[in-house]
Amino acid sequence: MQDRELYRRILGIEAPWYVERVELKLAAGEVHVYLDHEEVEQWACAECGARGQPYDHQAEREWRHLDTCQYQTILHARPPRAECPEHGVRVVKLPWAEPSSRFTALFEALAIEWLKEASQKAVGEQLGLSWDEIHGIMERAVKRGLARREAEKTTKIGVDEKAFRKGHRYLTLVNDLERGRVLYVAEGREQASLDGFWKTLSSEQVQGIEAVAMDMWDPYVNSVRAHLPGAERKIVFDKFHIAQHLGEAVDRVRRKEQKVLKAAGDDRLTGTRYDWLRNPVAMEPKDRREFAELRKSGLQTARAWALKETGMALFSYIYERPARKHFRWWSNWAARSRLQPMIEVGRMLKRRFENIITYLRHRITNATSESINSKIQWVKYTARGFRNLQNFVHAIYFHCGGPDLAPSSTK
Ligand SMILES: [Zn+2]
Repeated sequence: MQDRELYRRILGIEAPWYVERVELKLAAGEVHVYLDHEEVEQWACAECGARGQPYDHQAEREWRHLDTCQYQTILHARPPRAECPEHGVRVVKLPWAEPSSRFTALFEALAIEWLKEASQKAVGEQLGLSWDEIHGIMERAVKRGLARREAEKTTKIGVDEKAFRKGHRYLTLVNDLERGRVLYVAEGREQASLDGFWKTLSSEQVQGIEAVAMDMWDPYVNSVRAHLPGAERKIVFDKFHIAQHLGEAVDRVRRKEQKVLKAAGDDRLTGTRYDWLRNPVAMEPKDRREFAELRKSGLQTARAWALKETGMALFSYIYERPARKHFRWWSNWAARSRLQPMIEVGRMLKRRFENIITYLRHRITNATSESINSKIQWVKYTARGFRNLQNFVHAIYFHCGGPDLAPSSTK
């Protein structure tokens, strides 16, 4: 008698459900709790919650619950079916579990909390779960989170690519820049990879998107143009990617000049590669003085560097008119620089300029995506058991998607 009352309380079982009997299997380290219910006039449908007449019962099922006193605890019950006015004959809403799960909601909630902090392997071992069971819990959590997300409005997004397996394959990620979370993940970095994202949005949600940060990558540009009205005013090429292009051009100038100088016995550029890439403000005073000398040296690399810095000054403008004037002047300077890499990068930026200047209006970069990227590295590290890409995609949503992932029946 008393153990039934104890288990009813531990499990939070409420009328019409009650604990019919408890079986202790000491050797197996298991407690089996059998549930039954009183006569019920109407049940709530598991899908929509509408009330309906009792119909019949399914065969007995089992649910793994939180351990009690180190014993694996397993619930048993025969799920009743009722006639929902909307869905017809369906299994009723069971207070301890979601319809498709073999675990109780509390057990899934525990596993989810652990999975947020620890590797899949560690959680699997601690809770005695297989890879498939772990992935099932994560997949259900992600589906719930994504379903809840539908109505939300997002105004600023970032499109980013992520290389995995040593750069041979790519994922396309769409990030919510305001909330710092992943909205969408797809394989590849083609136009089709991004096209799938737009299908997840309602037309109101599409209308609500004001700005999209991205790299200067045509497949993404094409997808945004095909799906987002007014795309030409909303695409913002990421300023860090622009800085990267300029930095690479400076480095090409330096490498070429270094060869010429070295052949002439001049080692002024030796060991300076990183000086040209980092911010002088961050240097030690002595290094900064030496670097200042180099910059005044009249070397080609110094001119390329000045072009890069002056080019990036575009992003500190507040108003568009003077910024456009600055860029026209800069782009002429780059064109006349007689430094081939700078001429090329200048030409590219000129061609892309209308979606660079949009930065001044929207003030977004993919920097948020970069922080999401480092989180994805962690996901990769803690989930070495990914047997397929889909598991990896679920894990990215799970750890970086930011939705509320607890099973709904615990709410
Ligand atoms: Zn229903």
